[in-house]
Amino acid sequence: MSLVHHRRWLSRLQNLHSQKKQILFFCTTNHNKKHTQALPPPIRVALTESAGRGVFATRRIGAGDLIHTAKPILTHPSLSVLDTVCYFCLRKIASSSSCFQDHTAVFCSEECKEKSKAFYDVERRADWSTFDEYCRSQGLKYPLLVKRLACMIISGAASADSIEILQPASLSPEMIIEMEEAFTLLRSSFKNAHILDEQMTFLNKQWYINVLARIRINAFRIELAGGSYKDLLALAAASVEAEAAVGNAIYMLPSFYNHDCDPNAHVVWIDSADARLKALCDVEEGEELRICYIDTSMARDARQTLLAQGFGFQCSCLRCSSGE
Ligand SMILES: [Zn+2]
Ligand SMILES: [Zn+2]
Repeated sequence: MSLVHHRRWLSRLQNLHSQKKQILFFCTTNHNKKHTQALPPPIRVALTESAGRGVFATRRIGAGDLIHTAKPILTHPSLSVLDTVCYFCLRKIASSSSCFQDHTAVFCSEECKEKSKAFYDVERRADWSTFDEYCRSQGLKYPLLVKRLACMIISGAASADSIEILQPASLSPEMIIEMEEAFTLLRSSFKNAHILDEQMTFLNKQWYINVLARIRINAFRIELAGGSYKDLLALAAASVEAEAAVGNAIYMLPSFYNHDCDPNAHVVWIDSADARLKALCDVEEGEELRICYIDTSMARDARQTLLAQGFGFQCSCLRCSSGE
């Protein structure tokens, strides 16, 4: 990584430091029940020697330990599960009698419905059939996250630079051209709904590309681990047939974890988009915590290709270096 990049990250980290209170407020909680007072998570974000920022253990962490939890700052369910998954927290909803229906969206609780109110009031004013159909036919999931963020910004629930701190993917001119159609559809949906121009001054092509470049490499695909025997069977069938994920989400702190093909930490989701970062093995104080961005069971060449194309870096982890 060049010096320029280091500087850029350094200034971002300084920003991060000044925004620390705000970030910790919405992305981490500590669930250590042995203590009555919440402790900060045993990690710190700092610069690594070669991969920009990274997450480091501030004390020894045992295998299987919960490092911290993280609440998403942005979520969207997969289009195929809209009527069975909470529109806010992505929790599975057992039956229509146990959910809180609001027009086309379903919520698992009054609380989720309330938390969605601001962005959903904006979203509901527009007709999304063309935009959603475009995403569905092209198999696109990230424009849905941009749509939700745009609704949050218009409603005043988020600022236009909410995810600016996250690292962006480098985009080829072809990728940018591909994004234009979804952008045009998004903007015209708001326009047709008579959202005022002054409420969407942020919504230009540059903003859209900028946000999508960040979502592209920072979105987590969410597969829930918890659930009933029936869920497990459905999941097994879905993984063969189609989409096993309930949706996608963006987090702040988990996005700072670097990749390793032989990771010492991983993210698990039990019954909602609330993420749990757990240690996979014993981690010493000062050691960098890394997660695997892709399927660890893939062969070296396939991993290298996927990481280069999807995330824009060449992996030089120990496992890759040893040719495994
Ligand atoms: Zn919910
Ligand atoms: Zn690797």
